[in-house]
Amino acid sequence: MCYFRALPATKRTSAAKPRTAAERKARLKRILSALDGLYPEATCALHHNDAWQLLVATILSAQCTDERVNKVTPGLFEKYPTMRDLAAVSQDELAADIHSTGFYNNKAKSIIGAARTILHDFGGEIPRNMNDLLRVPGAARKTANVVLGTAFGIAAGVVVDTHVQRIAGRLDLTKETDPGKIEKDLMKLLPQNRWILFSHQVIHFGRGICVARKPKCAECPLETICYSKDKTSVTRAHAKAS
Ligand code: SF4
Repeated sequence: MCYFRALPATKRTSAAKPRTAAERKARLKRILSALDGLYPEATCALHHNDAWQLLVATILSAQCTDERVNKVTPGLFEKYPTMRDLAAVSQDELAADIHSTGFYNNKAKSIIGAARTILHDFGGEIPRNMNDLLRVPGAARKTANVVLGTAFGIAAGVVVDTHVQRIAGRLDLTKETDPGKIEKDLMKLLPQNRWILFSHQVIHFGRGICVARKPKCAECPLETICYSKDKTSVTRAHAKAS
């Protein structure tokens, strides 16, 4: 029989850590199912019409919000409609065009380098595998995973951005702090058919609920299975007591 008692208005609750492989598996299932409930259609927030535009937008999104990038890219692709246009522009001119996204000199260099490399080495086609894509300037693993996953539906890895990095730690899906090692842990843990969607869902979750400062634990469907030290106070009318 279960009894219910009123808790104080706010209380930081803690959940028990899973102890067995079966408990860990069940917990992961609950995490994935909660993310599905919250963000069934999650996808990349960067506006794009093709893989090339997505690559450029992803390069621009480093240390910049997707909203800001989405304001810059329509004018950018109107001025430079093709990869050849961006391969031919001067770095100074492109840097001025993308100034508001920050780190504009490095980003301009990467975009021009990416356009030239793809034209010269890959016949103007965005490579569809990780090894080749990593040869493109500006495309480190995170960017390559975004392009392969979102533009081509190829699950070559898991995008680990700042949100995935933070939340994978809070949910104890990894003990690592290095993005490359976090990605390896997530690839081992998650079924491959979840690699693409999981990142999109967690990025939305990190923007809306499990935010960096003061996560909104009171509205989080994972609160009862989260034992992160970052948890904030939770308002509850009742809690189960045995
Ligand atoms: S919002 Fe709070 S309860 Fe939910 S995953 Fe983040 S830290 Fe845990």
